[in-house]
Amino acid sequence: MNVDMLIGSAFEPGAEAPERVLNPRTGALIVEAPEASPAQIDRAVAAARAAFATWSRTSPGERAARLIRIADRIEAEAADFAALEALNCGKPKGAALNDELPAIIDCYRFFAGACRVMPASAAGEYLPGFTSMIRRDPIGVVASIAPWNYPLMMMAWKLGPALAGGNTVVFKPSEQTPLTALKLASILAEELPEGVCNVILGRGESVGSALINHPGVDMISITGDIATGRKVLEAAARSVKRTHLELGGKAPVIVFDDTDVDAVVAGVRAFGYYNAGQDCTAACRIYAAPKIHDRLVADLAAAVSTIAYAREDDGENEIGPLISPRQRDRVASFVQRAAEAKHIEIAAGGAPHDGPGFYYQPTVIAGALQSDEIVRREVFGPVVSVTRFTEEDQVVGWANDTDYGLASSVWTRDVGRAMRVASGLRYGCTWVNTHFMLANELPHGGLKQSGYGKDMSLYALEDYTAIRHVMIAHS
Ligand code: NAD
Repeated sequence: MNVDMLIGSAFEPGAEAPERVLNPRTGALIVEAPEASPAQIDRAVAAARAAFATWSRTSPGERAARLIRIADRIEAEAADFAALEALNCGKPKGAALNDELPAIIDCYRFFAGACRVMPASAAGEYLPGFTSMIRRDPIGVVASIAPWNYPLMMMAWKLGPALAGGNTVVFKPSEQTPLTALKLASILAEELPEGVCNVILGRGESVGSALINHPGVDMISITGDIATGRKVLEAAARSVKRTHLELGGKAPVIVFDDTDVDAVVAGVRAFGYYNAGQDCTAACRIYAAPKIHDRLVADLAAAVSTIAYAREDDGENEIGPLISPRQRDRVASFVQRAAEAKHIEIAAGGAPHDGPGFYYQPTVIAGALQSDEIVRREVFGPVVSVTRFTEEDQVVGWANDTDYGLASSVWTRDVGRAMRVASGLRYGCTWVNTHFMLANELPHGGLKQSGYGKDMSLYALEDYTAIRHVMIAHS
């Protein structure tokens, strides 16, 4: 399997120690991928810098045409991309092909259109005798660093607005999931001028750290852990780089008494466990009103016990394993600590899967209290907690009582209450009577320690461009 990186217009293997890329469904080695050396990182940044001089001056129409071609080529090879993503992440192939690939292709198409219609204030004479206009210009070289949960989609979310905005990029996938980025690199090399997008491999503490500290990088875009986000900010502070941070989440799901409980159960079964819960918007922290609490716990536990995983026939699987033994053990330790509390009941699951692969049973934890670790910390696995609440103010306070601020949902038939609660929640997104739904036209991003900066939508294009004012004297 090819593990060559893209630097400038050439493909070459990393010159440093290899990372073992595993199949999470079996634990088997897929390939060893050597990481970039310091000299290769320098060359990738230099290639992006050199390309910026011309790419930044291309018209939006030209950039759009190239993004559309990239989208078309991904679409033409969608089945291969999905198979590779499924192999590397353990996702069911159908989920990668039918859920992720269409959204990825649409992301490139969206930014192709969006960069041609960037909104701005009207040019005008704000001082008499001087005409002012606003420009949105590219920022420079963007270091883009992605996580392992949706490798190709995170790449699209980062490359789409960066390239559409006229920037050049050095992209680093997660060391655990580089395969689809490497496959896409061969398309990028054919569809983009030399150096506009470089793809290099390596671990966070070596290659990632070198990239974010590199003097030739103007902006850092990262999706990852809060601790990693802090390191990015420290690095950026030293040279005052622009940053775009998408960090973790712990989404509250507020369920009122007047709700359709069946719809909530179906929603949480789908949106709490999708991608084995390795999703920063996962519907993982349920607050249930007293009249529906017991039924919700019972029905959810029954529904979650039917989630299909680890089946021989992948077509039957609804979710996959965790990405690594480390992540599975981390999930297991959260559940184990929760189960030690007398007030907690494990209503479904609660153990690693007995068999090959890095699976963990879909789990429902009932009786959780606001102060419990399982309610407060991001598990990033197929684990959902349920906490009973009584008052609206109390539950809004609990939902906001967290370092995270990415996604949330409210379930009620009362429109006024839905609006009131949504306005009180401190989250980048609040869904009403649904959860998890994204569209490329709409922004995704957090508040508080979930980070800042938006993915998708025109707001992402704003984040990846600099506002400039040009004033012309009339005489
Ligand atoms: P991670 O922070 O360990 O790694 C993310 C990326 O950062 C990887 O490519 C890694 O190599 C790199 N990295 C790690 N340390 C680095 C350093 N010191 N300098 C530069 N780069 C470094 O996170 P992960 O384990 O890959 O992903 C899971 C986390 O990402 C979860 O916390 C999850 O909530 C978060 N996440 C957030 C979003 C979002 O949109 N907010 C989306 C997906 C994942």
